[in-house]
Amino acid sequence: MRDAARAALAEELPCDPDARVHGLRREGDEVVVRFEQDGRSVEERFERVLAAVGRRPNLADLDLERAGLTLDAHGVPRFDRRTMQCGDAPVFLAGDVGHDRPLLHEASDEGTIAGENAARFPDVRPGARRSPLAVVFTDPQLAMVGESWKELRGRDVVQGEVSFEDQGRSRVMLMNRGRLHVYADAREGTFLGAEMAGRAPSTWATCSPGPTSSG
Ligand SMILES: Cc1cc2nc3c(=O)[nH]c(=O)nc-3n(C[C@H](O)[C@H](O)[C@H](O)COP(=O)(O)OP(=O)(O)OC[C@H]3O[C@@H](n4cnc5c(N)ncnc54)[C@H](O)[C@@H]3O)c2cc1C
Repeated sequence: MRDAARAALAEELPCDPDARVHGLRREGDEVVVRFEQDGRSVEERFERVLAAVGRRPNLADLDLERAGLTLDAHGVPRFDRRTMQCGDAPVFLAGDVGHDRPLLHEASDEGTIAGENAARFPDVRPGARRSPLAVVFTDPQLAMVGESWKELRGRDVVQGEVSFEDQGRSRVMLMNRGRLHVYADAREGTFLGAEMAGRAPSTWATCSPGPTSSG
């Protein structure tokens, strides 16, 4: 899946998902980026840099270590994601601050779990979590639901897969990129997860000949 996604994205622009940037400086109207490529340190000049480097919890000023909490390498208290409790302390995390799954619906569920447990403390109980769901709004879009192939490694799993590259409708629409993999328990047949790199449904809808079309 990763190879397919990387190949599709690389058609549009050079794409290095493991890039190591060692330096960034401004020279006149340009930005000079020093990075590692194939084990060599190289420098290139660009007009602009768009840095999409993620977010981090705003915890630094809270001196959380003084509260007796165990912190991880990011300074985030270690917590149980089923109860949202930090160790045995009467402290509960909810949302992006936990640096776990920074998504709106996860934050909402975590808020419910953390709030209920805080109100019921010390009767702390595991709350219901949803199936993991992740979407990257690239083109093609990347999506994962349930357990990933990596997480399923070593389990008795069957995989169904389809490539969009030679799919008739995808080809006609010049959208024949990406693939879909679905995973199921080999004995039970239960659906466990799926991973996909494919064109955005909104793009499909725009280009679709209409609701009567099949495919
Ligand atoms: C550009 C962008 C796009 C996103 N797209 C998606 C998406 O498509 N789907 C999806 O599921 N999720 C998306 N997310 C993630 C989603 O917005 C977050 O997971 C969600 O908002 C987390 O909710 P939260 O309550 O934990 O944190 P937030 O919504 O960040 O709320 C935290 C609040 O705490 C305040 N605050 C911070 N520090 C302090 C302090 N010291 N004292 C008092 N107040 C403080 C902040 O000002 C903020 O109001 C996106 C996020 C971004 C930034």
